[in-house]
Amino acid sequence: MSGYFYSHRMQLVDSFGRVARKLRLSVTDRCNFKCDFCMPLKPTWIPSSEILTFDEISRVVKILASMGVSKIRLTGGEPLVRREIEKCVKILKKVPGVETISMTTNGYFLDEKAAALKESGLDSVTISLHSLKPERYEQIVGRKDAFSKVLSGIKRAQAVGLSPVKLNCVVIRGCNDDEILDFVELGRETGLVVRFIEYMPFDGKNMWNPDRLVTGAEIISKIEEKYRIERLPREHGSTSLTYRIIDGSGTLINIITTMSQPFCRDCDRIRLSADGKIVPCLFSRDDYDVKKLLRNNASDEEIADFIRSAFMKKFAGVETLLKNGEVEPLIRPMHTIGG
Ligand code: SAM
Ligand code: SF4
Repeated sequence: MSGYFYSHRMQLVDSFGRVARKLRLSVTDRCNFKCDFCMPLKPTWIPSSEILTFDEISRVVKILASMGVSKIRLTGGEPLVRREIEKCVKILKKVPGVETISMTTNGYFLDEKAAALKESGLDSVTISLHSLKPERYEQIVGRKDAFSKVLSGIKRAQAVGLSPVKLNCVVIRGCNDDEILDFVELGRETGLVVRFIEYMPFDGKNMWNPDRLVTGAEIISKIEEKYRIERLPREHGSTSLTYRIIDGSGTLINIITTMSQPFCRDCDRIRLSADGKIVPCLFSRDDYDVKKLLRNNASDEEIADFIRSAFMKKFAGVETLLKNGEVEPLIRPMHTIGG
């Protein structure tokens, strides 16, 4: 029996009945930025030999797609520092069952890469932009030449037809929380979808504390000081709340309320780390090394069974951790798994 039919009858489901449809695929743990809230001062890099090759990634993706995982988001570290990442996009886009490929990037190399990515089959892109003030932005990301390059990358992404183009802004009290309305204004002017993300305790520098968390509710109140907004129905499995500005512009705002109002109950994501570990959830402490099987001639069926049993162990989610007060900083630094 072919892997496709063997697996397709059995979708990837966890012990709570949640079915995996989306893959967050980290293609590298390396990054050319040092964002305060992500990168440790002295990161320990995964040795290159441990990073999955494109062939290995594509094999895992084929197996996952045969189990119904159809939407892939490339992340990192910084996915655009992975050499020839557009080749990876091209390979994955041809995998039967894969419907969309998107990417979350810091945008630094997007100006030069956007056209090739689009041509290779990338559908959409989310670019992280945490401040509209050049100096502040460059301080946050730890790189002096970044702001104008990232803005060019955003424009290029729109110009080559990646769609939608979204912006990720991690909101941190005392850092950039005075810019919420400026970001909304940018969304109105440009058609970019702004996504405000609650600060999560994954920062490599241990800066996170509850006082620095600006909740989704606060972000919404801030927006309501200036705009009338309406909440749209939440898509199944979505991590975010979506609001529309009621002014005829059609401006959409996403708010990722992972810390104050997580949506674990219908979560449909599975994660693969750059070194080939299945990570059932961003907040999981456990991971499952699929690379060992890949490099030891395991069959597709064996790998599918391994992934299925790993996913079955996916815990209820951050909801329960938060309820029990268990979330501690540094479960794993964000750059090793992607947001
Ligand atoms: N390097 C790419 C980037 O920055 O867009 C992709 C990887 S990054 C880890 C994925 C997303 O996680 C980015 O939007 C980033 O801003 C966000 N992120 C990083 N650290 C975070 C934290 N501690 N809390 C919330 N979001 C975080
Ligand atoms: Fe790099 Fe993205 Fe982490 Fe910033 S958030 S250090 S750009 S991986």
